[in-house]
Amino acid sequence: MKNRLKDRIALVTGASSGIGEATALALAEQGAKVAIAARRKDRLEQLAHTLAGLGAEPLVLVADLASEVEAQRIVKETEAHYGHLDILVNNAGVMYLEPVAEADLGRWRRMLELNVLSLIASTQAALHGMRARRDGHIVNISSVAGRVANPNSGAYAATKFGVVAFSESLRREVYKDNIRVSVIEPGLVDTELRDHIGHEGVRTALNGVASGMRQLQSEDIAEAILFCVTRPDYVCINEVLMRPTDQE
Ligand code: NDP
Repeated sequence: MKNRLKDRIALVTGASSGIGEATALALAEQGAKVAIAARRKDRLEQLAHTLAGLGAEPLVLVADLASEVEAQRIVKETEAHYGHLDILVNNAGVMYLEPVAEADLGRWRRMLELNVLSLIASTQAALHGMRARRDGHIVNISSVAGRVANPNSGAYAATKFGVVAFSESLRREVYKDNIRVSVIEPGLVDTELRDHIGHEGVRTALNGVASGMRQLQSEDIAEAILFCVTRPDYVCINEVLMRPTDQE
């Protein structure tokens, strides 16, 4: 079925690669107009070219979302450009895994700011317009690490448990305004995320685990997000937890 999101306006953060890129494409293929945000302008422009070919009238928003001011700006710019915002996909994130005893706290601070505070800030900015229109859907990307805390993932798990908790609290604040909140909790997905782990031992070990299994693909997550945002508006998918079949 095509055009299930015709005339819907979406903003996807972290759209320059991986899950965000696949999600922007999936939304566009269903007729949504899509704003895309991240730091890498060249990657966003490449994606925008493809989105334009699908008729998605893309808006490129170059932003470092570790700043909550930037997280709010991209929402306001999306609303100013298209008139309003229907679907906010809070996907931008990093995964800095390292043992607590050796952790670089500056790196962990940036992760906490991006994965949690920025997601809260963009959500806050979107609520005003969604409430006024009594229509909106916020999709937050958490992780299996938002359900299970493994060694070396203390701060990352704290951010993703935080996203789950925030999403549920938010849902209960806004459901009466006809605003839906969904949280997605993927297991291992084959993306660039692991490349940025600063601790070499942890990075090598996790890459070893990943290479021994059939990983999820970004398109699998995009499809789950698409399922959430194409339900009739009396249906709110609260949570989607998905692992590769091969993941314990
Ligand atoms: P990628 O590394 O491919 O994508 C991360 C995205 O976030 C990129 O577009 C990156 O863009 C953006 N980003 C990172 N830092 C910033 C920043 N400071 N400001 C703006 N954008 C930023 O990984 P994934 O697609 O895997 O990750 C997407 C989400 O999925 C994350 O929240 C991650 O935690 C979650 N997730 C991933 C899993 C996996 O196994 N891959 C499993 C479970 C959850 P740029 O660098 O251009 O700024």
